[in-house]
Amino acid sequence: MGLNVGCLDHGFVKLVDSMGGDLSVVNAARISYNKSSEEFNERDEKLIGFLGEHGHTAPFRHVYMTLHFKAPLFIRAQAIKHMVGADHTFKDVSSNEISMRYTTLGEPEYYIPKSLRSQSASNKQASGEDLDEEAQSGLLAIYQDSIEDALVNYRLLIHSGVAREQARMILPTALYTEWVVTGSLQWAAHFVKLRSAPGAQTEIREFANAVEFIASQIAPTAWAALMKGNVG
Ligand SMILES: Cc1cc2nc3c(=O)[nH]c(=O)nc-3n(C[C@H](O)[C@H](O)[C@H](O)COP(=O)(O)OP(=O)(O)OC[C@H]3O[C@@H](n4cnc5c(N)ncnc54)[C@H](O)[C@@H]3O)c2cc1C
Repeated sequence: MGLNVGCLDHGFVKLVDSMGGDLSVVNAARISYNKSSEEFNERDEKLIGFLGEHGHTAPFRHVYMTLHFKAPLFIRAQAIKHMVGADHTFKDVSSNEISMRYTTLGEPEYYIPKSLRSQSASNKQASGEDLDEEAQSGLLAIYQDSIEDALVNYRLLIHSGVAREQARMILPTALYTEWVVTGSLQWAAHFVKLRSAPGAQTEIREFANAVEFIASQIAPTAWAALMKGNVG
């Protein structure tokens, strides 16, 4: 499919596969009248706008995508909270991740921020302005040294015969992991709305923007309508 959006220093969101598009949304809605469209036209565009505006979300859940994420562990912990994509009565978004019980880290990649931010004074979970430049390099060195130390100790534990499933317990959340997730267009819209908002962590916003770009290529009109509507 060829869509691959780079995020942070080593991350990405790649489109692995997708099912459906604008026409699938239209035809799911038109079956109420036992009608369907062969080619997307102006009336279809209006119908999609109506569906989005009035929160008729079921037709949007006939478009699905499988995305491959590469992101630090702390981003993965936030991303996989988004579990609902097709029916609110059960968890239906599927995800699978590399296991560090099965694999030993060779040359692991980890995230190094371009700058360190201050703690926000007004929002307990947010960050504020960048720390001043003088402090940056010393603090970034502490950040990187801490991760390198953990990696040295991880290898030591592995070489000393400790099981991978236990050695991994000391690893920092800045390490990159990879997973694939399959969800509907509505799942993607809900994820993007929450995770690209100003209250979301700066780093995950890059991944939300990547998902937004990919979803908007799969079903451009439906995506715009979902993002405009109040229902995720
Ligand atoms: C800025 C920010 C900070 C956060 N901080 C924390 C934190 O500190 N700790 C933490 O644990 N999590 C935190 N979260 C995660 C948050 O609590 C949600 O788990 C996450 O955003 C996924 O959203 P969701 O539950 O709406 O998504 P999903 O589970 O994917 O659900 C999607 C939508 O489906 C509907 N839905 C889902 N289940 C049902 C149901 N059973 N019945 C009816 N409708 C349903 C709802 O409309 C829901 O919004 C944070 C999220 C954000 C964006």
